[in-house]
Amino acid sequence: MKIRKGDNVVMLGGKDKGKKAKVILVFRAHRSLGEGGSSGDKVVVDGLNLVKKHLRAKKQGQKGQIVSKERAISVSAVALICKSCGKQTRVGFKTEGENKVRVCKKCGAET
Ligand SMILES: [Zn+2]
Repeated sequence: MKIRKGDNVVMLGGKDKGKKAKVILVFRAHRSLGEGGSSGDKVVVDGLNLVKKHLRAKKQGQKGQIVSKERAISVSAVALICKSCGKQTRVGFKTEGENKVRVCKKCGAET
């Protein structure tokens, strides 16, 4: 999984294409069928890919509400923005001692 919670990403498609925001949730796909890449992983991005939800009044006399809520999107629909160089980038991994660290493919910085 290349995208993590708290990352800044840019939308690559849809009505929010080109918009940048922070990842607030990450859903990992089930890996029961083995390492199948990251195609099933999803992210929720703050304020983007909103869907309107109608909330019914819970009590009589109360008004129903329409609220906007972020819907999860595939990680393949977003691209990471590097914290170091600020560019839309891809990431690679390198092993440092016992740790696997994520690095920006553009500037080489750890992200
Ligand atoms: Zn970078």
